[in-house]
Amino acid sequence: MITSRAEHTVSRKNISPNPLKVLTHLSKSGYEAYLVGGGVRDILLGLTPKDFDIATDAKPNQIRSLFKNCRLIGRRFRLAHVFFGREIVEVATFRAGNEGDENTTKRRGSQDHHTNENGIVKRDNIFGTLEEDAWRRDITINALYYNIKDFSIIDLTGGLKDIESKTVRMIGEPQKRYTEDPVRMLRNIRLAAKLGFNIEEKTAAPINSMAPHLREISNARLFDEAVKLFHNGAADQSFLLLEQYQLLDELFPATKQAIKKYPETKRFILKACENTNERILDNKTVTPAFLFAVMLWQPLQHQTTYLIENEHLPPVEAKLNAASMVLNEQNKITAIPKRFTMAIREIWQLQPRLARDIDKRSLNAITHPRFRAAYDFLLLRAETNPALQKNAQWWTEYQAADAIQQAAMIRAVTKEPERNKPKKKPKKTQA
Ligand code: ATP
Ligand code: MG
Repeated sequence: MITSRAEHTVSRKNISPNPLKVLTHLSKSGYEAYLVGGGVRDILLGLTPKDFDIATDAKPNQIRSLFKNCRLIGRRFRLAHVFFGREIVEVATFRAGNEGDENTTKRRGSQDHHTNENGIVKRDNIFGTLEEDAWRRDITINALYYNIKDFSIIDLTGGLKDIESKTVRMIGEPQKRYTEDPVRMLRNIRLAAKLGFNIEEKTAAPINSMAPHLREISNARLFDEAVKLFHNGAADQSFLLLEQYQLLDELFPATKQAIKKYPETKRFILKACENTNERILDNKTVTPAFLFAVMLWQPLQHQTTYLIENEHLPPVEAKLNAASMVLNEQNKITAIPKRFTMAIREIWQLQPRLARDIDKRSLNAITHPRFRAAYDFLLLRAETNPALQKNAQWWTEYQAADAIQQAAMIRAVTKEPERNKPKKKPKKTQA
């Protein structure tokens, strides 16, 4: 179905200048060029797209010869990256899918299409038509094509209707599509959460039982997907959907166990999710380290207690060992980059220093590079643990105070005499 320019809301004004240049240049050079994917979807929904994906009938080499700063990348999908300073515009040649449609089937056996023993698509480089390209996309609302030539929208899978009814609907047979790429289950959750859409019944039905297929996915890819789920402005919804569809067991099994044992953990995680959403809304920075520190906090406590009680380790050693054990287990599923695991450990290590009775030594924590994250973490813990509220408040006031007030606060907790008063030599008997 083709919707003409007069009947839809996508305008060139909604497209960033550089992707627009790429679209126009492709089109002027005689190729078909479309904005597709999240770009069209988000514009139709009145949102600002994160990136603008472009699809064309130009082959990768042809794209390369059209643009000065262009690199071909990717093994699984061969894509062109066009560079504008630091901005990258991604251009993909139409691909045929593996839906078993006749054209694709005929071309099977070519070196360009590989599935492994699990049925997962490992390489997928058969070029196709727009129609084939549409049917191999994941969900209908991601398969809308905005034609730069006449500004119409081409909708072959019912995406426009699903935008209207706020529906996440898998293209093709869901179970088969999840077998080809189990990450599609997570993408569906992420978009349903982010857009406030419902997951259509047939799309949702196989997820529970297919969740274990995520074990076939590399831990590097799963780390990226996990972060996207929680940094999409709707982290709490993502979390609840992961839980509902048994995907939490796969992504964060230790967290899932902890919730079963200590139900209040869920409230702590949801609070963290709300914080993260607010930070994103306010354009503040968010780090995956914080998210993982939250998810694994209760498992860390559990493991520490275990090492102290059963292996009789001294508490300090137990904490360090437990941190390594919990992080190593999680790394098998989601490969947490080293810089983040270091930050996670530091956020954890600072907790006792911020949570115990404040004395002079506590103040060293303030100069620690991870102080701010550790303080945020303490605030969060205090929201679900009243015993920590006094300290949380002290640190909040301390940071807001000026130097004179800070000195007074320190004196108050350390019972030091005021500086300017002449110090009396303490008598020996007082010591
Ligand atoms: P956003 O960029 O907002 O996260 P998006 O839908 O644009 O969302 P991308 O990862 O940028 O997501 O992918 C661009 C498009 O490529 C998607 O809209 C979809 O059409 C297609 N696509 C991405 N991943 C898959 C997949 N695993 N299976 C099938 N199609 C996919
Ligand atoms: Mg995108």
